[in-house]
Amino acid sequence: MLEKMEILDVDEVIEEFEEITKNAERVQRETLKKILEENGSAEYLQNFGLNGRTDPDSFKACVPLVTHKDLESYIQRIMDGDNSLVLTRKPITTMSLSSGTTQGKPKYVPFNDELMDTTLQIYRTCYAFRNKEFPITNGKALNFIYSSKQSLTKGGLAAGTATTNVFRNARYKNAMRAMQSQSCSPDEVIFGPDFQQSLYCHLLCGLLFSDEIESVSAPFAYSIVYAFRTFEQVWEELCADIRDGILTSRITTPSLQNAMSKLLKPNPELADLIQKKCSGLSNWYGLIPELFPNAKYIYGIMTGSMEPYIKKLRHYAGYLPLVTAYYGASEGWIAANVNPKLSPELATYAVLPHIGYFEFIPRRGNVDPLEQEKEESTFFYTEPKPVGLTEVKIDEEYEIVITNFAGLYRYKLGDVVKVTGFHNSTPELKFVCRGNLMLSINIDKNTEKDLQLAVEAAAMLIAEEKLEVVDFTSHVDVSTDPGHYVIFWEISGQASEEVLQGCCNCLDRSFVDAGYVSSRKVKTIGPLELRVVHRGTFQKIMEHYLGVGTAVSQFKTPRCVGLTNNKVLQILCNNVAQSYFSTAFG
Ligand code: AMP
Repeated sequence: MLEKMEILDVDEVIEEFEEITKNAERVQRETLKKILEENGSAEYLQNFGLNGRTDPDSFKACVPLVTHKDLESYIQRIMDGDNSLVLTRKPITTMSLSSGTTQGKPKYVPFNDELMDTTLQIYRTCYAFRNKEFPITNGKALNFIYSSKQSLTKGGLAAGTATTNVFRNARYKNAMRAMQSQSCSPDEVIFGPDFQQSLYCHLLCGLLFSDEIESVSAPFAYSIVYAFRTFEQVWEELCADIRDGILTSRITTPSLQNAMSKLLKPNPELADLIQKKCSGLSNWYGLIPELFPNAKYIYGIMTGSMEPYIKKLRHYAGYLPLVTAYYGASEGWIAANVNPKLSPELATYAVLPHIGYFEFIPRRGNVDPLEQEKEESTFFYTEPKPVGLTEVKIDEEYEIVITNFAGLYRYKLGDVVKVTGFHNSTPELKFVCRGNLMLSINIDKNTEKDLQLAVEAAAMLIAEEKLEVVDFTSHVDVSTDPGHYVIFWEISGQASEEVLQGCCNCLDRSFVDAGYVSSRKVKTIGPLELRVVHRGTFQKIMEHYLGVGTAVSQFKTPRCVGLTNNKVLQILCNNVAQSYFSTAFG
C-alpha cells in the first residue's frame, strides 16, 4: 500500500503543467520576482542597483547579459571558500562541472537545492507525459548512469558533474522510485571508480533482471550506444559469469565484486537463453528488445550532438520507440519533452516557465537582411535585443539566456534553439546547435548541424560496404595556405581507398553554405581533408575527458576541435591511419 502511494500521480503532474503553461507570461514574472526577492541581497545583484525592484523591465535595464567568463571571478571566490552572499543569498555548497566538451575546458557552475528541485520537476514532467503514452507497470530500468569523481574545492565545496551531483542527492532515488524507473544496478555500480568496470556490471545487472526491465536509458544517447557496442564485445563473458555465478576477473574493484557477488548465482538456463538470443540476431539488429522483452522504450537525450547516434540506437532498438528526454545544462534546466511519441528527429522541448526566467536573443539570421547589412556596415553593431519567453516567434532561431535560482542572472548559455510552436503559451523549442558557428576560415559559416549533414551524406557511401562511421569530429587547419577543413572519421572496418576518396569528395561538396562553396571555387579555402583514425581513437578522447573530471553520463564528442583543445587534437593526429584530400572542386 505504501509502495503504491509513493508512485507519482501522472494526471496531477500533467494538469499542473497545463495550468502553468497556460499562463506562461504571468508565471515568468512571478518566477523572476521570486528569484530576485530571494537573492536581491547577494553582492552580484546589489552591484547593479536594482534596489528591490523585481519586474522584468527593471531587471533587463539594470542587469547585463553575461557569459561564463564574466562570472568566473565570482565563482572562483565561492570555490575558494568565500561564504558571503556572492551570487545567492543562501551559500552555495556544491559546484557542477559542465562537460566542457564544447570549449575544451570544463567550467564550474553553482549547484544548489533549488537546482535539484528543478531537476526533479523536469524529470517528473517528462515522466508523466511519457507514461501516458508508454505506461510502465512496475518495472526496473537499465540506466547507464555513472558518477564522476567528486572532489573538494580549495574552500571545501563538493565539486562534480551536474549528473553526479544529482545521482548523489538523497532525493534522486526516491524520485526514481516514484517514477518506477529505479536502476536495476546497485549503487556500487553507479558510483564505481572505473567506468569500464561499471559499464560491464550495468550490462550484467540488466541481464540478471532481464524480464523486469521496462526501460533502457542514459542521460545522453551516446552512452546507450557505447554500452551496446561494448555488449557486442563482451557478451560471451557475461554469459559465462551468469552460467557459473562467478564474476569475471576483469572486475577488480572490491566494492563492485562485493555488490555483484550478492546478485550472481549460477544460472545456466539464463546463460543459454541469452546465448541463443544473441546467436540468432543478424548483425545485432533488435538486440535491446531481444534481451529485454518487457522493455517499453529507450530513453535519453537524442537531439543535437546526439543525433549522429540515433541510427545505431535504432538498429539496436528494433521496434522499440526512441524517446528523447529533456533539454537543459549544468547551468540550469530549460524544457521537457511533452510529446514523447515524436521521433527524436522531430522532437521539441516545451519550456517550463516556473523553473527560471528565460530570454531569447534573436539570431542574426532572423533579422531582415537589408537591416542587417545596414547595421553591419555601421561601426557600432549591437546585438539584437532579447525578447521574453512568450514573445518569441515561430520558425525563428534564438540564443537562450537563463536566469535561475542557482545564481545565474541573464546568462548566455551559448545554445541556439528554434521555436517550432507553442504548448499553451509556452514555446516548444527545437535544439539547433551549440554556439553559433563552428567551422569558419573566411566568409564560410558551418555549424555542427551542417557538419552532421555532410557526414551523414558521405557515410551513405560506406554503408554500401556495410560499414559505419563510429564517431567523427572536425578541425579548421589554417597552418596550410589556404586553410582547409579536416574531418576525422573513425569507421567500423576497412573501406577501400576508392570509396574513402569518394567520401572525402562528398564531404567537401556537402557543405553547401554559399561562403564555403564560393571560397572553395576561388581556392581561398583548400581541399577538404578526410583523416581516417584507428579504431578506439574516440574512446581515447572520451577517456581524456574522464581524466579531467567529465562523467561518461554527460560526455559529448566535441564536433570541432580547435587549437585550444590541443590534447584532443594531438590524440586525433597521432592516430591517423589514412588521409585523403578532396578533388571535388578540381
Ligand atoms: P553540460 O555542459 O554537460 O551541462 O551539457 C549541456 C549542453 O548539452 C547544453 O548546453 C546543450 O548544448 C546540450 N544539450 C542538453 N540537452 C540537450 C538536448 N535535449 N538536445 C540537444 N542538446 C542538448
